[in-house]
Amino acid sequence: MLIVGNWKMFKTGLETASFCTELARRVDGLDGVDVVVCPAYTSLDEAVDALGGTSIAVYAQNAHWDAEGAYTGEVSAPMLAELGVTGSLVAHSERRQLFAETDESAARRIDGLLGAGLSVIACVGETERERDEGRTEEVLERQVSAIAAAVPPEERGRLVIAYEPVWAIGTGATASPDQAQSAHAFIHRLLQVPVLYGGSVKPDNARALLEQGDVDGALVGGASLDVESFGLICETAARIPS
Ligand code: PEP
Repeated sequence: MLIVGNWKMFKTGLETASFCTELARRVDGLDGVDVVVCPAYTSLDEAVDALGGTSIAVYAQNAHWDAEGAYTGEVSAPMLAELGVTGSLVAHSERRQLFAETDESAARRIDGLLGAGLSVIACVGETERERDEGRTEEVLERQVSAIAAAVPPEERGRLVIAYEPVWAIGTGATASPDQAQSAHAFIHRLLQVPVLYGGSVKPDNARALLEQGDVDGALVGGASLDVESFGLICETAARIPS
């Protein structure tokens, strides 16, 4: 199982350092679960320092596709790698909805990250409207195919997909375990890499979601900001037989 905390634009460097020290005390070395945190760019250094020597990895939330260039405000994969960051999220639905991320730009970012030796968690998921129109599988197929095309088979070991139905992110409206299972099984038929579920995962619904046969872990937003609730989710994952 893999449990990933996406902190979005929350936590300063000081808050990150104390959270990571407490998280390491709580979950470092827990058998049966790998843990990743994704702080904001400004807190990556503090997270890497605080988690050095532990089993908890630090990923970014995004990365530019080029290694360097005239891209004001952007950060590249080699810059992240030099900090000790070992991977990044790509194409989170907030990037797709608010920052014009497309399947094409996501594929370029993935290429840049893999080229710098980093791992990738690429996000996919349908909107409420697409689900209501019965287009969930069509959307997932388009998004997953674009990601798969950017990752040669020999690099697939560094790719994870996160299925995050847009209507379930930050809304409290979690997909039911059956809905998650069926989307994950569909994605696994398209691409044989681990698939995380994301969308209002909390300590009280984590078990039912993580117990589904095609759910390989969780990408946690809001509940990852609190060390107690994130720790509980990691402990729940550790107890689920693989
Ligand atoms: C996310 O940001 O990836 C996410 C799933 O958020 P939340 O858990 O708050 O729905």
